[in-house]
Amino acid sequence: MRLAGWTEARVYDLASRLEEFREGCRVTTLAEVERATRSPFHLLVSCIISLRTKDQVTHAAAQRLFRLAQSPQTMADLNEAEIALAIYPAGFYRTKAAQLKQLASRLCSDYDGMVPECEEDLLGLPGVGRKTANLVLGLGFGIPAICVDTHVHRISNRLGIVDSSNPRQTELQLQQRIPRDLWIPINDLLVTFGQNRCHPTSPRCSGCPLTDLCARVGVTRHR
Ligand code: SF4
Repeated sequence: MRLAGWTEARVYDLASRLEEFREGCRVTTLAEVERATRSPFHLLVSCIISLRTKDQVTHAAAQRLFRLAQSPQTMADLNEAEIALAIYPAGFYRTKAAQLKQLASRLCSDYDGMVPECEEDLLGLPGVGRKTANLVLGLGFGIPAICVDTHVHRISNRLGIVDSSNPRQTELQLQQRIPRDLWIPINDLLVTFGQNRCHPTSPRCSGCPLTDLCARVGVTRHR
């Protein structure tokens, strides 16, 4: 089922415009990690650091941590204080340091130091929710999954592709409404657009390349 107007052709048109828009923007941290490492472990760690944290802060924090440890084995050998110092000032850095230490230890003890390629196993790991699990499945393993973060949830609703009140609903509706080959790339396309144009509180609607596609649902203030 699709909301009125959101045909498959229109969704592809949207993706193509978002790709064009992204060309002029800074590469997001998670896209850069994917391109540079192709490592599910690096993506998993970076995604945990990124929760409630600005992208530039995530990037620097992840780089500092990866200089200390590149694998679950070496990260499990760090203590929480060392991890916390490396990822500071990421949001909730102490909690994340504890989770990353536990995560690395669990990967070593339960998965031979590998990241599991299965959603259920990923969701059982410390600090891993649906957003992180889907990102790792998609970018880390190439398994179609829609990673719904705050940007994807907000912009999908504004555009009128979904009508949902929480990220899980958004994920389920997007699965019905966007072609499967867009499930993995849609996250980075919308994150980049959200960081650079369709901001949370005051989107830059004037001159927006999506104006003719966007229903602007819930947008009360804009520039
Ligand atoms: S028109 Fe405004 S609300 Fe719609 S996508 Fe563009 S910036 Fe976002």
